[in-house]
Amino acid sequence: MAYKYETVIGLEVHAELSTNSKLFCNCEVKFGSEANTQTCPICLGMPGVLPVMNQRAVEFSIRAALGLNCKIASYSKFDRKNYFYPDLPKGYQISQYDLPLAYDGHVDYELDGETKRVRINRIHLEEDAGKLVHADVTGNPNQSYVDFNRSCVPLLEIVSEPDLRSPAEAIAYWRAVKEILEYVEISDCNMEEGSFRCDANISLRPVGSKELGTRTELKNKNSFQHVMTALEYEEKRQARILDQGGKVIQETVLFDINTGRTASMRSKEEAHDYRYFPEPDLVPFEVDAAEVERIRAALPELPAERRKRFVEEYGIPTYDAEFLTATRQMADFFDETARLSSDPKGSSNWIMGDLSGLLNNAGIEIQDAKVTPAHLSELIELIKNQTISGKIAKSVLPDVFETGKTPKQIVEEKGLSQISDASAIESIVDQVIEENPGPAQDYRDGKQKAIGFLVGQVMKATRGKANPQMVNQLLQQKLTG
Ligand SMILES: [Zn+2]
Repeated sequence: MAYKYETVIGLEVHAELSTNSKLFCNCEVKFGSEANTQTCPICLGMPGVLPVMNQRAVEFSIRAALGLNCKIASYSKFDRKNYFYPDLPKGYQISQYDLPLAYDGHVDYELDGETKRVRINRIHLEEDAGKLVHADVTGNPNQSYVDFNRSCVPLLEIVSEPDLRSPAEAIAYWRAVKEILEYVEISDCNMEEGSFRCDANISLRPVGSKELGTRTELKNKNSFQHVMTALEYEEKRQARILDQGGKVIQETVLFDINTGRTASMRSKEEAHDYRYFPEPDLVPFEVDAAEVERIRAALPELPAERRKRFVEEYGIPTYDAEFLTATRQMADFFDETARLSSDPKGSSNWIMGDLSGLLNNAGIEIQDAKVTPAHLSELIELIKNQTISGKIAKSVLPDVFETGKTPKQIVEEKGLSQISDASAIESIVDQVIEENPGPAQDYRDGKQKAIGFLVGQVMKATRGKANPQMVNQLLQQKLTG
């Protein structure tokens, strides 16, 4: 089918900042505490209280904004966004409107081997709202509770331009943003706990048209798969409406993961419905250029730069570099292992293969594992100096993973050292030739392959500990000599 329509998607990504305290008060920010134990008159919105700006949150925001290639506003202010909802005790959210903290950025991301760019319109710093706890938790279908532990937690809103052209692009961009925020260490981006989520808006327009079509908005998604499915559904739904000559209504739609369909939630508010006005209790803030430069200088190497360096400095394939930079911790782990072992490709193979398998099985991240880069480089060294074979090494790693002991310790304790003493191997070789006259004769008759079987028998007899090259050499000598 020729595509009649072009899909246009923009994302508003929300990331809770991992500061110790909330945006305007001293309450602790910690997920999973008992409901309403991290609250005070300020974040409960009591009358007469005054918010005090958390400077760390401003610094975190600037770090994020620089990581996303944004310009930092030298002068910025907070505004009240007024609406009524039970999770918002003040009746307004302190957010930013016309003078955001950062603007004009971009993020490059990879999709199907191509590098694409999404422009970022602006980044707001705002307070998060509380959380409603519904029937499935309270047990009573007619009751909802509200937990204010999340209220006033610092939240970044990263607003993209509508530069995304498919649900797959939207997901790839969203992942790239997550990666960057994790690298600059301003948010744990924990999607299950809701500290990283997004709103997506989507519209269709005839191919070739420059005008934007009417968009619908999908709210508060915290799963890549949900967003993908919801956007794909919405894409088809809007195409069907347009095909029939109908009009898409601008509204917020809810995606039901169980039915796989979207349903209208409410017609979309316009900005004027929120009656924005400047927050009178907070002074506008000015960020001086020297401070911005200080933060910029302290930024870590970002994922894209790191991928590039891994390929150039270590000569590993692009595929490996992408895998290894998926998280900053994994990239750090590889960097150190490659440096210690002077064997980048070997390090990459171990991390991407056996170690990743062990991590997946255990359901943990690399930073929580007992295996360290020093362990892994020691293991690589043990293979290189022929203390153990590659095969034995594969059996050593799970033990290191399990116990945190060094590979050397495990090799010693289990007596796994390779037998490189020719006389020790020789007697076994003689025995194997004697016990397998058929294959031995085959080899003497010119069947080169027969030696493989005999090598296998020697390895078996030594429980994999014989030096395979030496076994091969000895067998050849004995059979042809
Ligand atoms: Zn508080």
